[in-house]
Amino acid sequence: MRRTLEDTYRHKGLRKKLIDVIKEKGITDETVLEAMNAIPRHFFLDSAFDDVAYEDRAFPIGEGQTISQPYTVAYQSQLLETVPGQKVLEIGTGSAYQAVVLAKMGLKVFTIERQKKLFEENKKFTYLKQFPFIKFFYGDGYQGLPTYGPFDRVIITAAAPEIPQKLIEQLKPGGMMVIPVGAGNVQQMRRLHKQADGTVNEELFDNFSFVPMLAGKN
Ligand code: SAH
Repeated sequence: MRRTLEDTYRHKGLRKKLIDVIKEKGITDETVLEAMNAIPRHFFLDSAFDDVAYEDRAFPIGEGQTISQPYTVAYQSQLLETVPGQKVLEIGTGSAYQAVVLAKMGLKVFTIERQKKLFEENKKFTYLKQFPFIKFFYGDGYQGLPTYGPFDRVIITAAAPEIPQKLIEQLKPGGMMVIPVGAGNVQQMRRLHKQADGTVNEELFDNFSFVPMLAGKN
């Protein structure tokens, strides 16, 4: 992939407008908005997308996968209701954009990708060296990271046909998981809140469209 790692005034201006767009769509969490305003989204895309990187749209990142729409990134990040310093497990690293937004919000991020090519691409992505609090893993997100858990938060950035039980187990009591659930073209965002006694409360939110969460590695 060819990247432009230069953040010009033009990029900054387009990014500010994008932040206004997602605010108008209902995002109010200042920590999320500030993090997204600080992260150059065009760095995470091939330079062919330089002109459109600040449109509120998903774009291809190779291997049939996509970088999530900025509104979706903001929506999931806001629902997580994080506190700086918390440990967050992300399933579906993809472009690493969501992981970097979470790191910018002051979180310790553990992120898993099942596509070897995307995982390797991120190893070559020099900008990520600025974020030592993100740990990248190649593997099957359905398994989570038992040796690194338990986590305060879990965020799934692919469409889960059902709730992965192992990831519930790796959530701390009082922890939360944000996950788009559904096997079809549309998924409903859910937030699961693990109680002190291990039971799980569930809240339902808006519909989104993600690429599928697949089992195994590739
Ligand atoms: N958070 C990403 C979104 C990428 S799209 C970003 O900001 O760009 C979803 C990603 O989830 C894809 O890269 C896909 O390969 C990955 N994925 C799907 N199923 C997975 C699984 N079981 N474990 C880990 N990653 C998975």
